[in-house]
Amino acid sequence: MIAPGETIGILGGGQLGRMIALAAANLGYRCHVYAPEADSIAADVCAAFTQGDYDDADALAGFAGQCAVVTYEFENVAAAPLAAVTGHAPLHPPARALEVAQDRVNEKTFVEALGGRPAPWAQVDSKADLLAAIERIGAPGILKTRRDGYDGKGQWRIMTPADADSLDLPAKPLIYEGFVTFGAEFSVILVRAADGDVRFWDSAENVHKAGILDRSTVPASPLILAQVDEARALAKKVADALEYVGVLTLEFFATEAGPVFNEMAPRVHNSGHWTIEGALTSQFENHVRAICGLPLGSTALAAKGVVMDNLIGDDAHDWPKILSDPANHLHLYGKEAVRPGRKMGHVTRLVL
Ligand code: AMP
Repeated sequence: MIAPGETIGILGGGQLGRMIALAAANLGYRCHVYAPEADSIAADVCAAFTQGDYDDADALAGFAGQCAVVTYEFENVAAAPLAAVTGHAPLHPPARALEVAQDRVNEKTFVEALGGRPAPWAQVDSKADLLAAIERIGAPGILKTRRDGYDGKGQWRIMTPADADSLDLPAKPLIYEGFVTFGAEFSVILVRAADGDVRFWDSAENVHKAGILDRSTVPASPLILAQVDEARALAKKVADALEYVGVLTLEFFATEAGPVFNEMAPRVHNSGHWTIEGALTSQFENHVRAICGLPLGSTALAAKGVVMDNLIGDDAHDWPKILSDPANHLHLYGKEAVRPGRKMGHVTRLVL
């Protein structure tokens, strides 16, 4: 067990790290952020900060040597250099979870082997591969980069085979996915302790705008609620197979034929921000409890319902209006530059 007072290392310097650090501080831990950027909004609320590249093994080793446990808030960290961390401190979730989740082909192969059902997909490394994929799977579909995609970045909609012909393929490993006709989207967020104890939060119904999460609502609609058990069973299999410790997220499309797996994130997730006020224990606190070997807290709802809205780009300027309603819980991430599509904060309302 890693007792309060010890130092938790966090790889990644964004808002997820910031909210993990705030939860850790409430339990009496110190946090030390490792990130490549000079200004880290996570480091702003932490005891220590190391600026370093994710592939700098010496810097990673020096950082891990100052931590009792290391976690990550960003899944596009290369897995191999993390061997420099595990020589000095335990790493939770395991590096294997990163390897699986950071590549869309690995992720889908892994989940299919456990009985999960993603959209039909094909690996694409050339124009010929893409045309063959469209021939087999059909159009419309979405061409995505296998790695480094987030918030709808690195994605191209393909409506007809002619779209593929005219597309200038990026020189990166790609994947083509058939377009899923879904009734709604939802996520399963669980926390798993080292002893295998697994708890789920209620599944939020997620609405995206331009590929970015816009709103998460709990409880989800009946279409989703009827599919949550099956989706949870898959998420638990994924967590057990990885001997996972910490918070794990799987995203699904709710279709007429049941839950279709979209993607997984080996970390706390934007669609779980509502748990800060809306659950007895937040995803951030339970992540800290799990990686430190503390007993897990209850994931039960703290209200009849919860709505979380992301504040994207200019939405952040509305903070005075948001605060004029005393029932709103405002979270701003402290990012200096407001840019279109950038997650600046979120606001949560409970239905009591
Ligand atoms: P992703 O980054 O892969 O989660 O994609 C972001 C959003 O794009 C998803 O949450 C969906 O709203 C949409 N999307 C991604 N893949 C598909 C698909 N195969 N079929 C339909 N919509 C998709």
